[in-house]
Amino acid sequence: MALDLAKENLKGLLGNWYLAGREPWQVVSATATAVLGGVWLWGFLFQEESLVSRGKRVAFRLARHIPAVARRIDSELSKINKDFQEEVIHRNEGNPYIVSLPEQGKTHREIVDMVKLYLGFGDYRWQDGYVSGAVYYFDEGLIRLLTDVYGLASYTNPLHPDIFPGVCKMEAEVVRMTAELFHGGPASCGTMTTGGTESILMACKAYRDYAREEWGIKHPEIVLPTTAHPAFDKAGLYLGIRITHVPVDPETYKVDVGAMRRAVSRNTILLVGSTPNFPYGTMDDIEAVAALGLRKRVPVHVDACLGGFVIAFMRRAGYSVPPFDFAVPGVTSISADTHKYGFAPKGSSVILYSEPKYRHHQFCVTTDWPGGVYGSPTVNGSRAGGIIAACWATMISFGLEGYVDTTKKIVETTRYIVKRLSEMDSLFVFGEPATSVIAIGSRAFHIYRLSDALGKRGWNLNPLQYPPGIHLCVTHMHTAPGVAERFVADVRAELGTIMQDPGRQVDGKLAMYGMSQGIPDRSIVGDFTRFFLDSMYYTPAGRGDGPA
Ligand SMILES: *Cc1c(COP(=O)(O)O)cnc(C)c1O
Repeated sequence: MALDLAKENLKGLLGNWYLAGREPWQVVSATATAVLGGVWLWGFLFQEESLVSRGKRVAFRLARHIPAVARRIDSELSKINKDFQEEVIHRNEGNPYIVSLPEQGKTHREIVDMVKLYLGFGDYRWQDGYVSGAVYYFDEGLIRLLTDVYGLASYTNPLHPDIFPGVCKMEAEVVRMTAELFHGGPASCGTMTTGGTESILMACKAYRDYAREEWGIKHPEIVLPTTAHPAFDKAGLYLGIRITHVPVDPETYKVDVGAMRRAVSRNTILLVGSTPNFPYGTMDDIEAVAALGLRKRVPVHVDACLGGFVIAFMRRAGYSVPPFDFAVPGVTSISADTHKYGFAPKGSSVILYSEPKYRHHQFCVTTDWPGGVYGSPTVNGSRAGGIIAACWATMISFGLEGYVDTTKKIVETTRYIVKRLSEMDSLFVFGEPATSVIAIGSRAFHIYRLSDALGKRGWNLNPLQYPPGIHLCVTHMHTAPGVAERFVADVRAELGTIMQDPGRQVDGKLAMYGMSQGIPDRSIVGDFTRFFLDSMYYTPAGRGDGPA
């Protein structure tokens, strides 16, 4: 009561001050300004990006308008750009570029020879297990099968189910077999996509549209650990969803569920956990995340893109795994990449939902196009039936037994390497590697020195930042006799050298990578990453005159 009175008084006071001695047009214009200002302020405060991060970005952008700063940055950037380009030129030395269509088409023989030449570029011996991740399985027999199957199905397109019903059945079966692996109930469903990124993008789209329709959420937010894959940030950028990162526990490298709970707002449309995450290979506590989701009535996505086709078989292979899939109440979707440990060719992944209501919001439908009512399940219109068929063939070629056997080998190799590395004094392993990714760091020296040294021995590992580390993603190639032993021996040998002078700076290629982590203006790091991407598309310039 007293409060109401006070409010009335305040209103009266403000009204009198506001209106006193003003012309009607002034009142109207002031009101309009206030309303527009309010709208602007609302728009300013509620964007996809947080205020702090926007504030920083604006400050750095302003700094880059200072001529001296701008000159300095531009000259550094153009140097970096030239370096990237020269590296590509150097890499392809002695191999002329094709910059326009050959006047006459080449023959089958010529083309196959050229393909062999092109595929021979690059120095890393990935077939011998020198590379982290990238190729998960390599076997002549499997490749022959996939080549045959792709050849048979290369012209098919599930966009036309009436013309190619068989390839649609294959896709449906890939989805169902995968749902079965993750304890999807009778209502579970999903689609194939072209990769983990598209699976994640589709899930985010589905939840965004579901939340808008069911709950009227206009400024959607997703809460996820800092270790979640950048595909979610990409989805945020593409779909206008704000992404809120919460830290992981500094000991276990699992998401800090308390921080996640505090980050949930009325606009939260999704919580995310990874099984495991890419950088440190640790698995979030999905039961805790899912319980939080249930309590807050927010859907939960499990990103099993990397580890899905390992972790699903681990129990059968004799390892204990905490519950993480649709068996956990509250988990509403799972992404799992067939083109990683499913060993299918690149360009395939599966997104699964606990219920069809989410998948419905993944679909895109336009009803008024002159070309007809158009509905498509994923980003692409036309889709590669050949890849679907090859993925389907891979799955039924391995079978449950094949996957369990491979999982056993991969996890055994991982645990062997973890055990040996843990014995080395100057190293530590981040958290507990859940499946097949081993991340290591050091308190005694800069870990990039080890990465650099191993690089010189032919190893290609992944550098990590915040905190710095390197990881090895163990694939089927690392299970071959002697490979894991060789890795451990090489690490031990290089540690011996490094520990003679542990305080030395990082040099070589990774010096720049290490330096970039110290640059507070991330937009500069972004700029040179764009130049790096440019360099992937380098060719000498064409003539630019087209066919006469
Ligand atoms: C690889 C990966 C993705 C994205 O998959 P792409 O197939 O590369 O698009 C998503 N999440 C995790 C954990 C991954 O390792």
